[in-house]
Amino acid sequence: MSFDDKTRADLVELGAALYDRGLTPGRTGNLSVRSGDEILITPTNVCMGRLDAQRLSVNTIDGTHVSGDKPSKELILHQALYRHHPECTAVAHLHSTYAVAVSCLPDLDPDNALPTITPYFAMRVGRLPLADYARPGSDDLATEVDRAAAEARCVLLRNHGSLAAAPTLEGLSIAVEEIEETARLFLLLQGHNPQYLGEQAINELLEGTEKA
Ligand SMILES: [Zn+2]
Repeated sequence: MSFDDKTRADLVELGAALYDRGLTPGRTGNLSVRSGDEILITPTNVCMGRLDAQRLSVNTIDGTHVSGDKPSKELILHQALYRHHPECTAVAHLHSTYAVAVSCLPDLDPDNALPTITPYFAMRVGRLPLADYARPGSDDLATEVDRAAAEARCVLLRNHGSLAAAPTLEGLSIAVEEIEETARLFLLLQGHNPQYLGEQAINELLEGTEKA
């Protein structure tokens, strides 16, 4: 199975949109889509704002290179999310400023690094467990992400960035923006003793999402 022109164009378009919104500066971040047992991912060391559709990297879900350029060294993080969430067909890993800033704070809840400040975080992200720091591209980081991703589609990587999976590219775009905006709000609220949504309000929202 391979990836058609539309799928490639959609991935290039989202990469450019994330770059234009300042969510993936320089040559950081990577983006992928899955079809069956294959992953189409951004190549290593490229700018997400200027992707070439025909040079995107095709790999099996086990990480064997099939065609295109050499994949991002963070392919192993994408593999972990696809393994745990077979309903998901799109994954993004970003070094977006506010998410990275939060990932460096002490005393984060390892089960959910960001509190539920607004209903939208509960509906679009859910939970954001924390993966401990390990060298980018290392097996140790993949192991940490594998553990954190077992029960959540989105993960915050200590001193590094965010990782998110979704059933569609559009859903992925919404989730990564929600993580970044919630991280920004969380930082703005530091020292202000804010009220967050409680368990009852969150459960009510999640029931509504399931019915919708
Ligand atoms: Zn990274």
